[in-house]
Amino acid sequence: TSKPKIVVLGAGYAGLTTAKRLTKQLSAEQAEIVLVNKHNYHYETTWLHEVAAGTINPNQARVMISDVVSPNRVRLVYDAVVKINKEDKRVVLENSEIEYDYLVVALGFESNDFGIKGMAEHAFAIEDIDSSRLISEHIEYQFAKYNNEENVSEESLNILVGGAGFTGIEFVGELAQKVPELCKKYDIDRSKVRIINVEAAPSILPMFDKELVEYAKKSLEDRGVELKIGAAISEATAEGFVVGEEKELIKAGTIVWTGGVKASSVLGNSGFELVKGKVNVNSDLRPEGEEDMFVIGDCSWVWNKEADRPYPSTAQLAMQEADVVAANLKALITNQPVQDFKFSDKGTVASLGHSDGIGNVMSGYKLSGKSAAAMKKVVDNRSLFLLGGPKLVLKKGKFRPF
Ligand code: FAD
Repeated sequence: TSKPKIVVLGAGYAGLTTAKRLTKQLSAEQAEIVLVNKHNYHYETTWLHEVAAGTINPNQARVMISDVVSPNRVRLVYDAVVKINKEDKRVVLENSEIEYDYLVVALGFESNDFGIKGMAEHAFAIEDIDSSRLISEHIEYQFAKYNNEENVSEESLNILVGGAGFTGIEFVGELAQKVPELCKKYDIDRSKVRIINVEAAPSILPMFDKELVEYAKKSLEDRGVELKIGAAISEATAEGFVVGEEKELIKAGTIVWTGGVKASSVLGNSGFELVKGKVNVNSDLRPEGEEDMFVIGDCSWVWNKEADRPYPSTAQLAMQEADVVAANLKALITNQPVQDFKFSDKGTVASLGHSDGIGNVMSGYKLSGKSAAAMKKVVDNRSLFLLGGPKLVLKKGKFRPF
């Protein structure tokens, strides 16, 4: 009999880690491993707010996949997944098709605008390297134009960000750092630029406690970020957001939506049942009724039984899931029982620019300011280390002092 073929879709934190772990868990004789990804590079999704603000070079946030997994052990296919055909156990790619015995779906997230009118047409979203780089290029172009064109609107320098969750707040934190640099570069007075964050919920960063949230708010406001909290966006237009009950139009030359994510649209298009935009999986990380398929990372919800709600989707969760998926694939192939996923929370650190931040680490230990910013660099470098060892940390790591 021929050896089983494992196909992993997506080389983000979840998929790339799975492929790496599989090469350790299984010998070349036990299984064929195929990794499919849109590009020949992996990117650090958790750094995309920096790419979008232009505070790091996009190349720092991407890693050649062949540098991390050996092409001798893993067949690398650079193509976009269009559809998963469960019945025939085939995946349709843009340029070919691929059969599988076991499938790992790790295609990550897409922006979710919850149907807010005009958002898809008028707002940028931080989704991948290309969409993030487009935002920083667009912002810089607004500055470059300002002193050179007649009829430039006063609001063209404004940057409007919808959503004050992790991505939205980390992004305005970077903007607070970047805008003064752009002002200097293009001879523009800082007072001409507004950075405005709009959030419908009563608070920013719901995952942090009140004390850290207050710290973050003060840090951002001290650096000129306007936080409009408890204000829902009812519409996005070419000019800006329509906000709050008074339907105030806030104008800006750059409009970015960070208010929500859902699973890759490949899942919906392939007939998977979606709950709040993602696929529910059992504690062995397989969807109910699927014997040979795992769905992980931002594509799925895993239930946290203690809290009676799903774990929030994070890179940390995605990488831990990948470990269990690799072990469970080995178990399936060697006729052993599969194991249940258990999350081990290593804490959360949010950056507020390169020299400030807040964090919860080691069961309840709180950090803010420079120590949180330093911890964030440790977390970012650790993610590189887990993917590519010390070599990758030296190549792409964050060592810059404040
Ligand atoms: P991704 O990392 O998004 O990877 C998906 C992969 O699939 C990509 O390589 C993509 O190119 C590929 N792909 C997508 N569609 C296709 C297709 N059709 N065909 C082929 N390939 C495809 N989490 C934390 O734990 N800590 C943080 O500090 C943190 N900060 C964040 C900051 C920002 C700005 C953002 C956006 C997210 C942050 N997160 C953080 C969340 C974290 O990044 C995600 O939970 C994590 O990336 C999920 O990993 P994943 O492997 O599921 O998806």
